[in-house]
Amino acid sequence: MTQRIHKLLVANRGEIAVRIIRAAKELGIPTVAACSEADIDSQAARMADEVHVLGPARVDKSYLNVEALLGALKATGANAVHPGYGFLSENADFAEAVAAAGAIFVGPNAETIRRMGDKAEARRTAQAAGVPVVPGSPGELFDVESALKAAEAVGFPLLIKASAGGGGRGIRLAETPEQLTEEFPRSQREAQAAFGNGAVYLERFISRARHIEVQVLGDGQHAVHLFERECSLQRRRQKIFEEAPSPVLSQQQRETLCASAVRLTESLGYKGAGTLEYLYDDATGEFFFIEMNTRIQVEHPVSELITGIDLVQAMLRIAGGEALGFKQSDIQLNGAALQMRLNAEDPERDFFPSPGLVEALSWPQGEGIRVDTHLYQGYRVPPYYDSLLAKLIVHGADRSHALARARLAVVQTTLSGMASTLALHGELLEQPWLNSADFHTGTLETWLATRRSGGEA
Ligand code: ADP
Ligand code: ADP
Ligand code: MG
Repeated sequence: MTQRIHKLLVANRGEIAVRIIRAAKELGIPTVAACSEADIDSQAARMADEVHVLGPARVDKSYLNVEALLGALKATGANAVHPGYGFLSENADFAEAVAAAGAIFVGPNAETIRRMGDKAEARRTAQAAGVPVVPGSPGELFDVESALKAAEAVGFPLLIKASAGGGGRGIRLAETPEQLTEEFPRSQREAQAAFGNGAVYLERFISRARHIEVQVLGDGQHAVHLFERECSLQRRRQKIFEEAPSPVLSQQQRETLCASAVRLTESLGYKGAGTLEYLYDDATGEFFFIEMNTRIQVEHPVSELITGIDLVQAMLRIAGGEALGFKQSDIQLNGAALQMRLNAEDPERDFFPSPGLVEALSWPQGEGIRVDTHLYQGYRVPPYYDSLLAKLIVHGADRSHALARARLAVVQTTLSGMASTLALHGELLEQPWLNSADFHTGTLETWLATRRSGGEA
């Protein structure tokens, strides 16, 4: 029944396509870059053994085009697809179509994706596994009246969240019943337009919370965790600076949190890499599950650096029918790692997108420094896609060592031809609250607002 991967189709672009091709090459698996017409000169297309053009630049014609991807499998003889993150990575219908075509989807099965991709359903699954969730409505809500009624138990302020939301979108704050009345139908319409699914639910807004998530790996029988990542530094609910482990958890808390994630993962019979996201309430020390991402995440390298496990290779091995091959006790937490996202956005112009031609380019070097990127000198960053250009990732013996290496990495990086978040990271690394890890999910935006107004607010 289980087949080995003999040729891998990479159904993504940018740095993650490069990352997947690298992992496949290390395992001796030939690769096909399935790309849009705008990405024919991309680093992934240059590195892959074959290139298959899916269609025009528009994502609905290329990276979200299921028919074109199934056609690519057929045309190239690839028998597996790695979906990366974003695009079709959490699309259960796609996973099902790949399986129906007789190929391997590198990730959990369609049923698991469907279950955990629906956030309201994922909350119920977590509760059934004994994992605490943020207080919220028992499930989806369909009209304002039932929302107002549910809100009495949830309490204000609260968030209206799209069941199918992702990428920081589909979340609105309501501080009063009046705001809820006003925002609720807007949220439904927005969710329908953005995700093709208008279902929304309510969750209590936890202010001053930290975003802490657990990386898991399962082979369908057993699951392990690779400790946690702290991703509290966010702008518009999108992460920009991540680290592992969290600087604030005690050993006891770490064990409790990671054990809850493994319990939930095993209850799913989970196959592949996944992440369970939690909010951690500083004031009470409580954890609340918020969602599961059933795919590789942008910030996976920090977990790789502290454990020495290559997550993308592990995904490919598991998809090819292998068992995990290690136990929880084989995984040791070593040092600390940080990741800085370099986006083609101008922090001085409210993060306005700034794709362009890569002119001068040089990356930092030295012990404990890793760069995941698809850029090369002379490459023109197309304007159609995600703004992520590169990830500067550092590892040190402890957090302060990693921070020192992060400062070194930033000053050693040259990237000209477009505005980016590089200098912002340099500034961020000088902030006392970052160095002392005294922050929560609202801290970065507060700092950005202060910075814009030119000093203390
Ligand atoms: P991570 O935790 O890995 O950063 P994100 O949730 O930020 O994950 O998503 C990673 C990428 O996937 C981003 O490019 C984001 O915009 C995209 N993405 C995630 N979920 C969705 C979704 N439901 N719809 C559209 N894009 C999504
Ligand atoms: P997405 O699928 O877009 O990643 P999440 O549910 O993971 O959506 O939420 C994204 C971010 O929004 C979280 O990392 C956190 O900063 C914030 N957030 C989500 N739920 C809550 C909540 N109940 N209270 C406070 N902040 C929240
Ligand atoms: Mg999330």
